[in-house]
Amino acid sequence: MDSINKLTEIFKEFPGVGPRQAKRFVYYLLSRNNGYLDSLSKLMIGLKRDVSVCSSCFRYSISTGAANKCSICLDRGRDAGFLMVVSRDVDLETIEKSRSYNGYYFVLGGTVPILEKEPDKWIRAKELAAAAAKRAAAGLKEIIIATNLNPEGENTADHVAKLLSPVVKRYNIKISGLGRGLSTGTELEYIDSETMKNALKNRA
Ligand SMILES: [Zn+2]
Repeated sequence: MDSINKLTEIFKEFPGVGPRQAKRFVYYLLSRNNGYLDSLSKLMIGLKRDVSVCSSCFRYSISTGAANKCSICLDRGRDAGFLMVVSRDVDLETIEKSRSYNGYYFVLGGTVPILEKEPDKWIRAKELAAAAAKRAAAGLKEIIIATNLNPEGENTADHVAKLLSPVVKRYNIKISGLGRGLSTGTELEYIDSETMKNALKNRA
């Protein structure tokens, strides 16, 4: 296989990219100069080195060195009474952009497919239980489960609620989800800040 086809195959594996789009990416790269391609490949090579997973919320972040925690987890100005559980990093970014939430996060790293017999292997189940227990002992009042409003997202939310029920009962923590104002099928990634603000305000 030649370079054009090899690279097309790679781009095809990217989320949301079809074969035609993949090929357009390759021709776009061919149209750029060597300097551009050099810095692009350097960035890709360095990505895993410069970015690490936060040891507390598990989001990807630029390595801070401080106990391997991200800037949000290191921010003492945040409200330790709240923990928001999201599926992916992009969901966290959408919520941060809306500036309507000032608690901490936990990134599941995936969703649980419907009728899955081993739901725990799709998300950071053990890590979430541990994080919730740790935060519960430190004054956690509410856990907001913010997954997509599609069947897989709701299945994930149900499983997360079940997973957290021992610690929720023990410490009398409230569990909530994003509220009215969001229609069925909504993916958090595409919600505008105003809608997100309302969904958080109306959480139930
Ligand atoms: Zn973090």
